[in-house]
Amino acid sequence: MLSHRDAPISTDYTAARDRFRRAAIQAGAASDSWTLGPVEDDLTIDTARLGPEDAEGLVFLSSGLHGVEGPLGSAIQSRWLEGNGPRQLPSGVAILMIHALNPFGFATGRRFDAENIDLNRNFLQPGEPYQGSPPLYGTLDPLLNPAAPPGPWDALTFQPRALWTRSRYGMPAVKQAIAGGQYDYPRGLFFGGHGASLTSRILENHLPALIEPARRVIHLDVHTGLGPWNTETLLIHAPRSSPTCRRFVETFGTDRLSPMDADGVAYQTRGSLGDWCAHRFGVGRCTYDYACAEFGTYPAITVLSALRAENQAFHFADHNSPARRQAVARLREAFIPADPSWQRRALEAGRDLMERAIVHVDPRRSP
Ligand SMILES: [Zn+2]
Repeated sequence: MLSHRDAPISTDYTAARDRFRRAAIQAGAASDSWTLGPVEDDLTIDTARLGPEDAEGLVFLSSGLHGVEGPLGSAIQSRWLEGNGPRQLPSGVAILMIHALNPFGFATGRRFDAENIDLNRNFLQPGEPYQGSPPLYGTLDPLLNPAAPPGPWDALTFQPRALWTRSRYGMPAVKQAIAGGQYDYPRGLFFGGHGASLTSRILENHLPALIEPARRVIHLDVHTGLGPWNTETLLIHAPRSSPTCRRFVETFGTDRLSPMDADGVAYQTRGSLGDWCAHRFGVGRCTYDYACAEFGTYPAITVLSALRAENQAFHFADHNSPARRQAVARLREAFIPADPSWQRRALEAGRDLMERAIVHVDPRRSP
């Protein structure tokens, strides 16, 4: 069996953060470290910024919003910084990297934060209530979120019950109900929170100074676990006919784009980081092109099964128990496969996305 020790991506939070910090210094980047406060004082969100402060174009690459998915985005960021510096940037372009937006999840092997919040459902627009759930979520709650410690039959019985559910309600409805985001089941999967999370409050404080000087921004938020094995998809929260989507097509081609009206891999969500940023920084100020850069791993049922098992163990098993450790290991594999060929290809694809993103915001290019 392959181990993460043989592979180029580290799933260890401290090692990944040390590498990012070293790479930022080596590249000559301005860096910062935002602590999560007294309860999680060893956990930080780190930044690196390269290029002039008043650069017109900005490439913003964020990682680890979904904790356990963080090692890939982290390795893409560190590798890029290790191989580049300000001299490699066209004039008028800056790079902003934010490392481990959910450091608790990265460090402990969770997709959610310390409050069980799915951070990519937590960035609601001002005045939008932290309430409500897809109608089918309540029906699926006992299947998704068993309120008992993990038992020997869990893994065996989940898949047949999930397959039955899919045939009963249809895949699109089930996918939407499960992953669209819910605000009523605080221990459940894909819980968007009952208020602004620690991460969203930190970003609200710090991001304006880092982003507002730019006139054209491309924001790639790196995720894993959605889409076909070892394939990257740019999920764009805009229709195919939108100017945003047309700009993405020009830079990235059509093969890996999934606009929101396509019959693609995604579902509609509330409270995504990118929508919040595009609204906060884009409207009336600058061109803010955002995509969730997803790297596919295992089939959806395998990923969901691992998420469910880890969530059950997190809430109902002892944190040092074998059941919890096993569930975490399974979740890490579901989102960051140990297979070195998966890792190498994902890193190469990440570098290619970065290079294209720089071209995307180059002021010498016509808008
Ligand atoms: Zn994700």
